[in-house]
Amino acid sequence: MAAVFTCSIDDGNPLDVKMAELLCKHGLNGTFFVPIFNREGPPVLSKSQLLEMSARFEIGSHTHDHCYLKDMSLRDANEQIISGKCHLEDMVGHSIDGFCYPGGKFLQRHLSLVKAAGFMYARTTTNLCIDPGTCPFEVPTTIQFYPHSKSVYLRNFLQSGHWDKRAHGLYLALLTENWIERVYALFNYCCERDGVFHLWAHSIEIDQLDAWKQLDGFLAYVASRIARENRLSNRQLAERALYP
Ligand SMILES: [Zn+2]
Repeated sequence: MAAVFTCSIDDGNPLDVKMAELLCKHGLNGTFFVPIFNREGPPVLSKSQLLEMSARFEIGSHTHDHCYLKDMSLRDANEQIISGKCHLEDMVGHSIDGFCYPGGKFLQRHLSLVKAAGFMYARTTTNLCIDPGTCPFEVPTTIQFYPHSKSVYLRNFLQSGHWDKRAHGLYLALLTENWIERVYALFNYCCERDGVFHLWAHSIEIDQLDAWKQLDGFLAYVASRIARENRLSNRQLAERALYP
C-alpha cells in the first residue's frame, strides 16, 4: 500500500483549461465536474474545450444548471441530475459516470436519484478524510485549495459526521494559520498513513487568489511523493475502493 492522489475541480469554468495544463505538467490525474450552465453567473467550458479536456481527463456531472438539490422539489432535482448527465454525454460522446453535488448540498433521497440516473459514484464536500469513504455516493475529500477560516473547518467537521476518522485532520487544519501550510500538513499526514489525498478546487478561486504559483509548487511536491500508478481520477479511485 502507498498513498494515493486524486483531485476534483468543480463548476467547469473556462479556467479549468489552465488547471488541466497544470495537472498534465506534473503528470497528475483528476476529475472535472461540469454543469451545462452555471446559474450563479460564471461561464462554463465551451463544447470544444470540453472535448479537448475529456481526451485527457475524466469529466463528471454537476447537474444541468449548478442547482443545489436541497432547495428544489424532488422532481426538479431528478430532472437536473438526469439532464446534466445526458447533455454532457452528448457533448463528449461517451458515458459520464461521476456526479458531484453542487454546494455539497444533498439529502439521502438525492443519493438514490443519482444512483438511479446511472452514475457510478458521487462526490461530496465532506473534508478532512484520507480514505475513499464507505459509500460510493458519498465520496469525501481531504481539503479544498482555498483559505477557509477555522470556523468553516469546524462547521464542516460537525455537519459531516465520521468524527473519529476525521479528528486528526481537523487538528492539523486548526493547528496552522497559513492555508498553504495547512494543505501540505494534510498531504504529509496522508502520505504517512498511506491514505487517499483528495484535493478539490475551483479554478476561478485559484485565479482570484492569484494562487497558481502556490498550486504549481504544491502539485510538484505531490508528484515527488506519489507513485505514478497511484495518481487517479475520481472514477479510478471509486473502482479501486471496492465499496461494499
Ligand atoms: Zn459547484
